Amino acid sequence: MAAPMIEIDRVAKQYGNHAAVADVSFTIDKGEFIALMGPSGCGKTTTLRMIAGLDQPTSGEIRLWGRRLNEDAPWERDAPLVWQSYALFPFLSVRKNVEFGLKQRRLPATERRKKADEWMERLGIAGLAERGVDQLSGGQRQRVALARALALEPEMLLLDEPLSALDPHLRVRMQSELVRLHRELGITFICVTHSHSEAFAMADRVVIMNEGRIQQIGAPREIHRRAANRFVAEFVGGNNIFTGTACVEADGSIALVGPVGTVHAPAPTEAGIVTGAAATLVVPADRIELAAESTGSGNEVAARVVTVEFVGSTVTVFLETEGGGELRAQRSLHEMENTPLAVGQPVVARWSPSQGFFLPA
Ligand code: ADP
Ligand code: MG
Repeated sequence: MAAPMIEIDRVAKQYGNHAAVADVSFTIDKGEFIALMGPSGCGKTTTLRMIAGLDQPTSGEIRLWGRRLNEDAPWERDAPLVWQSYALFPFLSVRKNVEFGLKQRRLPATERRKKADEWMERLGIAGLAERGVDQLSGGQRQRVALARALALEPEMLLLDEPLSALDPHLRVRMQSELVRLHRELGITFICVTHSHSEAFAMADRVVIMNEGRIQQIGAPREIHRRAANRFVAEFVGGNNIFTGTACVEADGSIALVGPVGTVHAPAPTEAGIVTGAAATLVVPADRIELAAESTGSGNEVAARVVTVEFVGSTVTVFLETEGGGELRAQRSLHEMENTPLAVGQPVVARWSPSQGFFLPA
């Protein structure tokens, strides 16, 4: 196996008594698109700034191709950073902004111009070359910032909340454009975002952080299907989290007795759940079907409709059981077209036991 491109090895960053980053280790392969995701203040930007060389770790090591980077200055790292605010020079034209890094690298003017033209063309801003950046829309500025960084032809591109200043429909468009750029360029992208939909839409692997620590690393699908802990299950959304008392069944599966009634799921591979212990079961909302009547198979919970939420082509139905348990089911609008879902209506929520998983105790 090839050596990882970047190694973040037990890195911490302390500000006074506060650990902005507590103890973070992960590796990044060449050409990966990595998203650092987590709530505001969890240490994402600090981690990115340490990779960029704008901050020094208090302890631990950052390596590029096996070589310690900690003491290298930002300009020695070949890792330009695109900021949320884009940090463009407002008094310079688009072209001069894009040429800026190349000028610092003392590239001759004709070469500079050629490269800048190339990258402006590639990012669809060639027609804006002579404009001042203060005369651009948010989306256009974003493209200038990207062109300026990519004109340096770096080995990796660092992005800090690159889409958060854009309005929603533009954000979705830039998302796919970043994915396309990443695929075409083949370089490593490390992108910080607090939005799980953004991270999951773009990244090959997502690093989920909370309070300066990594909670889970994995491909979006993996994380969606199997959250490592309660924080992740809640943060990525779309999950039902049922708590109750466990009961190990004769076949080794586990029954959970709680506010939603008695439901079953496979025992986790790591030991730890015993009869009588408190346990937490996660069932993704898109795995729960709604029916008018019981079929007597799988997990079935009798409930009533509390609210129905339509977002795009997805319907989320919030339900309440007689015991006061809450659950939600997420279906496609198409599938629910002929299902009456009046508030207060009784329905049966149903899922296969294998769709649920217990969180580690
Ligand atoms: P995120 O990007 O995930 O929102 P940051 O990495 O910016 O979070 O910050 C992590 C924590 O470190 C926060 O509590 C923040 O207040 C603190 N922090 C960041 N930079 C500094 C600094 N220069 N001085 C003191 N505290 C800081
Ligand atoms: Mg930040």
